[in-house]
Amino acid sequence: MAAQVLFFLVTHDFYIYWFHRWQHNSIILWRTHEAHHSVKEVDWLAGSRSHAVEIVINQTIEFAPIVLLGADPMVVLIKACIDAVWGMYIHSNIDVRSGRWQYFFNGPEMHQWHHAEDRQVYFSNYATKFAMWDWIFGTAYLPNKKPSAFGLYYKYPKDYFLQHAFSVKRFDDSILYKKPGWAFYLNLRQNITRSMKRFFESFTCALRPIKRTT
Ligand SMILES: [Zn+2]
Ligand SMILES: [Zn+2]
Repeated sequence: MAAQVLFFLVTHDFYIYWFHRWQHNSIILWRTHEAHHSVKEVDWLAGSRSHAVEIVINQTIEFAPIVLLGADPMVVLIKACIDAVWGMYIHSNIDVRSGRWQYFFNGPEMHQWHHAEDRQVYFSNYATKFAMWDWIFGTAYLPNKKPSAFGLYYKYPKDYFLQHAFSVKRFDDSILYKKPGWAFYLNLRQNITRSMKRFFESFTCALRPIKRTT
């Protein structure tokens, strides 16, 4: 089982390096990947932000061979867990200093640069788990500092469904905020979040013990 997990980890990671690189270099495929780069703050949850088409392609190519080649069903579970944890790790904003391990394993140091708001950096650090692919194929970028800003260098819609529409046809979503129906929908999530925050703040205030001054 360990050999099977290792085999699929390495082969899938090799595939994802090249597909990811292709996504950055193809105008069409970039539209399935830009959502992942739209985060302005890279943290452990940033890895879960992806375009629906990208998820379908990558999950199919990841798990179909495991099933079709007749691997142990536990391999799917183990690999899915490793993927989830590794995805959180490489996107986390913790100050990791992995030294020479960076030549082999990918971590936040290199992946944060992959998310930096800089056109040149968009063409570096494509690896997910094994940074060695970047070092071998000449796409590694690891300066001695951290990026100052993250995200896309162009305007991108905030709404999940508009992001999908934007991948098909470019538009300026700020126009929609001026239309009453759209404005209501686009501000709805923010208003709900704000009301929930107010509710929980008042609730926690009520629970807070009264300080005795005497
Ligand atoms: Zn990318
Ligand atoms: Zn990422």
